Amino acid sequence: MHRNVANLVVHTDFSILSVLQYAVEVLRVNHVIVCGHCGCSGDKNAMSNCDLGLINKWLRNIKDVYRLFHRELTSIADLTLRFERLVELNVCEQVQNLAQTSIVQGGWNKRQAPTLHGWVYNLRTGYLEELARIELGADLDPIDRFDFGPKDDQGRRA
Ligand SMILES: [Zn+2]
Repeated sequence: MHRNVANLVVHTDFSILSVLQYAVEVLRVNHVIVCGHCGCSGDKNAMSNCDLGLINKWLRNIKDVYRLFHRELTSIADLTLRFERLVELNVCEQVQNLAQTSIVQGGWNKRQAPTLHGWVYNLRTGYLEELARIELGADLDPIDRFDFGPKDDQGRRA
């Protein structure tokens, strides 16, 4: 289990990458779950223009999600609903970030696992909703795929 502000999978964060590598390659888990929650203050502050100090840098990753889905999000006039949608989109994007790691793709290559899940926990109802599921790199963009084929004697992929 790894927790951070706004359930982010950041490719330069050695803390989450270490947890992921340990889970996938050493513990050999079959499922990795990104679980966000409704009313996430990390997501909420990312939608604001507040200068909160160092955390601005971390929340920058959510502003990138906002930018990616700008059209959909700005079409939602109700700010509470827009914010709740950002929570959902952020979870889905973090599952994509997991799929883009060589750690997860190495697991898929070696042992057809783990399956990735994106969940949102509704604090009011207690329900978990699955919004994303990725198995064996289904729908992964070719540019995000690592090549695990055989190497030549200089260590280059054939
Ligand atoms: Zn939160």
